Amino acid sequence: MDIIVQKFGGSSVATTEKLEQVSSHIIAEVNKGKKVVVVVSAQGKTTDRLISEEQEITKRPNKREHDVLVSTGEQITISKLSMMLNEMGFKAISLTGWQIPIVTNSDYTNSRIRYINSKKVLEYLESDNIVVVAGFQGVDEEGNITTFGRGGSDTTAVALAAALEAERCDIFTDVDGVYTSDPRIEPDVRKLNKIDYDEMLELASQGAKVLHNRCVEIGKKFNVPIYVKSTFERESVGTLVTNNPYKEENLEDLLINGVAKDDYISRITIVGMENKIGKTYELFNLLAENQISVDVIVQSLGEYVNKDISFTVKMNDLDRTLEMLEQNKELINAEEIVHSENLSKVSIIGVGITNKPGVAAKMFEALYEANINMHMITTSEIKISVLVDLEDSTKAVQAIHRKFFN
Ligand code: ADP
Ligand code: ASP
Ligand code: MG
Repeated sequence: MDIIVQKFGGSSVATTEKLEQVSSHIIAEVNKGKKVVVVVSAQGKTTDRLISEEQEITKRPNKREHDVLVSTGEQITISKLSMMLNEMGFKAISLTGWQIPIVTNSDYTNSRIRYINSKKVLEYLESDNIVVVAGFQGVDEEGNITTFGRGGSDTTAVALAAALEAERCDIFTDVDGVYTSDPRIEPDVRKLNKIDYDEMLELASQGAKVLHNRCVEIGKKFNVPIYVKSTFERESVGTLVTNNPYKEENLEDLLINGVAKDDYISRITIVGMENKIGKTYELFNLLAENQISVDVIVQSLGEYVNKDISFTVKMNDLDRTLEMLEQNKELINAEEIVHSENLSKVSIIGVGITNKPGVAAKMFEALYEANINMHMITTSEIKISVLVDLEDSTKAVQAIHRKFFN
């Protein structure tokens, strides 16, 4: 079977009129003889609305019930789209995550896929159905509904493409590909025809929400070609995410491939921790046990013999992290716990970035010229990230992008 998976995001399915446009992309593939699996998001801002309604009831929702609530948005879209395709004369059937089933672990709000039972989907495809699947949700071994985290419908799509050994996975969205930065932040961006899985993974992980980072991980692991295309352009060529795409094509030797930002970050510093083997482990074990994701970590020698450790957490996790640290102040033996709020992480991404002399200096020069202060710096083989004030983050992306691409 020549199977392809198409995914349509929230803005692509926002209205009945837009669902018609979506249907035309699906039908075009059916008419080419392809078996089509469609993954859809909730319509427009439905998920945001469900979350704000939840906030009217509780500020600390039970995570299981949260997943039951937010998974409903996608269920509305699958039924509407299937009905529309039926009306147009095509066989189509809707399936939720648990009906397939897409089996995950029980980590509510951020569950990971264990396996997909593709039997049912394959049977429907064989009997000439278009299979319309609800994105971003699964079911754990006990039958509880789970979700994959915001933007997780991309992950449903690529995971299904891997499980069904599909030819490719097309991610249709409101931009016609992956650009060197978010076109909503910097108008003068360039479209990338192809991008390597590793670079795309880093770009997505550093805040370019055009793809959910976990879908890129799966794409790389199972070699699924992922195309990012526009729903609203008829012949959108898009961007291909694949393995080492540069060897066949003599692309311009770009110093970097992209600039991204991740807003609403806070930095916590544990001042004057005892400089003893095992103390750092105790601190991060505590954070892990409380399911707090830590990003940038910097350790430095403080005054005298003690050490200071700084790390970042998302603003959403700040209150409970501080609460937990205060409760365990004796265990971690800290003199003081200080924090800064409303920061943003701005990153540049490119393979071998740290082997290219002058790249870091160029990034810092752009920030200096824009009069932006950096609060923390981290580097890896493939990226350089700096923390800046949230209010400077847009200006920082623009300044850095112009420095490298103009
Ligand atoms: P969908 O609802 O289709 O999943 P998203 O809003 O999740 O769409 O992702 C598409 C958005 O990603 C675009 O509208 C764009 O603003 C943003 N974006 C961020 N970084 C990039 C980038 N490097 N290239 C393209 N789009 C980007
Ligand atoms: N509807 C979910 C969200 O808004 C999942 C998705 O759109 O990918 O995050
Ligand atoms: Mg998305």
